[in-house]
Amino acid sequence: MRFISIRKVVLSLLVCVAAAPLISCQPRKWHGDQKLVILGIDGMDPQLLKKFMAEGKMPNFSALVRKGSFRLLTTSIPPQSPVAWSNLITGMNAGGHGIFDFIHRDPKTLQPYFSASRVEPPKHGVHLGNWIIPLGGGTADQLRQGKAFWETLDDYGVPNTIFRMPSNFPPVKSKGHTLSGMGTPDLRGSYGTFSFYTDDPMTAAGPVEGGQIIPVRVEESQVVAKLIGPDNTFRKGSPPTLEPFTVSIDPLEAVAKFTVQDQKFVLREGEWSDWIHIEFQLIPFVGNVKGICRFYLKQAHPRFELYVSPINIDPADPALPLSTPKNYARELSEEVGEFYTQGISEDTKALSAGVLGDKEYLEQARMVLAEHRQIFDAEFPKFQSGLFFFYFSSLDLNSHMFWRLIDPQHPEYDAALAAQFGSALPEFYQQIDQVLGEVLQRMDDHTTLLVLSDHGFAPYNRSFNLNTWLLKHGYITLKHEPNPDQNQAFANVDWSRTRAYGLGLNGLYLNLKGRERDGIVDPGAAADSLLTEIREKLLYERDPQNSLAAITRVDRANEVYQGPYAQLGPDLLVGYNRGYRAGWQTILGNFPADVFENNTNPWSGDHCMDHSLVPGVLLSNRPIEAANPALTDIAPTIFAQFGIPQPGSMMGRSVFSSTR
Ligand SMILES: [Zn+2]
Repeated sequence: MRFISIRKVVLSLLVCVAAAPLISCQPRKWHGDQKLVILGIDGMDPQLLKKFMAEGKMPNFSALVRKGSFRLLTTSIPPQSPVAWSNLITGMNAGGHGIFDFIHRDPKTLQPYFSASRVEPPKHGVHLGNWIIPLGGGTADQLRQGKAFWETLDDYGVPNTIFRMPSNFPPVKSKGHTLSGMGTPDLRGSYGTFSFYTDDPMTAAGPVEGGQIIPVRVEESQVVAKLIGPDNTFRKGSPPTLEPFTVSIDPLEAVAKFTVQDQKFVLREGEWSDWIHIEFQLIPFVGNVKGICRFYLKQAHPRFELYVSPINIDPADPALPLSTPKNYARELSEEVGEFYTQGISEDTKALSAGVLGDKEYLEQARMVLAEHRQIFDAEFPKFQSGLFFFYFSSLDLNSHMFWRLIDPQHPEYDAALAAQFGSALPEFYQQIDQVLGEVLQRMDDHTTLLVLSDHGFAPYNRSFNLNTWLLKHGYITLKHEPNPDQNQAFANVDWSRTRAYGLGLNGLYLNLKGRERDGIVDPGAAADSLLTEIREKLLYERDPQNSLAAITRVDRANEVYQGPYAQLGPDLLVGYNRGYRAGWQTILGNFPADVFENNTNPWSGDHCMDHSLVPGVLLSNRPIEAANPALTDIAPTIFAQFGIPQPGSMMGRSVFSSTR
């Protein structure tokens, strides 16, 4: 069967070449009967998987391991999801796809930005009073480079469906059905901004990480407040668009009635709304954008507390492209109902900010997985030929948030909370096992199954503040004493006396002459010996609390990256020991007082570490020949499955190939 499909491809290639001078090579109709199903389970950890299988919690995974094969899957350097999935998408490392971290910086301004996508308002407009009438629409750009494997499948006529693949917003042009995932912004263009309305004078108003605290007044049992929409770039100064809503609180019962535009609904305390539609007016009668959000009445009395989710792009009428074909997001919402479109849908930031408690966050995270399973249940039965890829985010985000409840060694472990919610993470694993059960039921002799994760997981107990360390070791000089309230990346750095800086979760950059705006380090031998010196000192660093190495591996970019973009990333990739990660403030270029700190955030598990310490998983119903498969082997595996020749730029090999 394999032979026939390869021969078909070779024959059609020959026909193509022969006919080339006369006709352009039309996409072929693929006739093979091979099918490939890939479940992409972000953050599924091999140790936890083995533990839950041993406890009998994951019968379908156990069955797959018994009949097929199970390997560790080498993750990317660094092991962050946007980087890791880009390795899988392109079959190349960051040197080939240009995604090195969640956060990149512009060397000329040192401004950090999200690495995966960029949303820009229209560049030109006509000013008309307070209005700026746009000439041409705004744009959303995908920043990942390199050809996605499904673009090549399209070239060869292999049908494919790709659900919620990270680092694919806006989705690349495709003949198949695709829906964008991680990297998709909310309607405000952020990676998710919740709103929390309260009349509690003890709650400080203003922005918090991932959200906004908005003070309100309760007058005669009524609250009038505003939903915050996208910045209105059509108006001078780009003020945010606002849409009012009202809440009538029952004076006796813990219940309130909401009016949002033409929708009315009632919530009891502790109850979530369905998706509520909201239309923000940009230009009267001309330009509106549609969003959806969920309301959660946290408290009606004695204090009023209302959480409103980030306003998601409405899949029924998306303001930015979410799918291919374009109307697919709408069709899907008609079939399964509205759903979170924002890339990272679990509102971990609301839990970290204390706006949602564990129980409330868990409810929200369960809603997200329920939506994903609904889409899976609607779409998987339609799969007939070619490739079907489906991505699940739940294990990643919930391992981040609930590690402290499964690990008694974690500084934030709380026995009472663990008794209440310690089963949450295993339950998410079990739900993924149920999804696998549905897949296994539909397997036939022509179907290959891959279940894989982009990386594993580890505790995050202690923070390492890389920039503070660089400051204390004389690699950074500040203009004046650090101000703990100052939160502007690098604003206080004297670049004329700074040789290196940290940015992002694993990146360390030299302040290089000719590259950075005020670079002082000469490229070549000087840069080289400075990198060697910093690397050695970092590897020598011990945590004063327990004498453990904080950093177990430091990679030089030029030793681990190949491809046209290899020069654009960090110069050193800092690989933290299990238990350690770059601190929250250092990531964006700030300087907390201490190099080491306890991590007190509910975000208690992580994987942005030494990549060799957090491998992912790879399972298949077929024998995996590769002893040490890597994410970069997956695209070559897909191509081999459909008899497509492997592009020379890809570094891996099919995991099923015996000639590795
Ligand atoms: Zn993660």
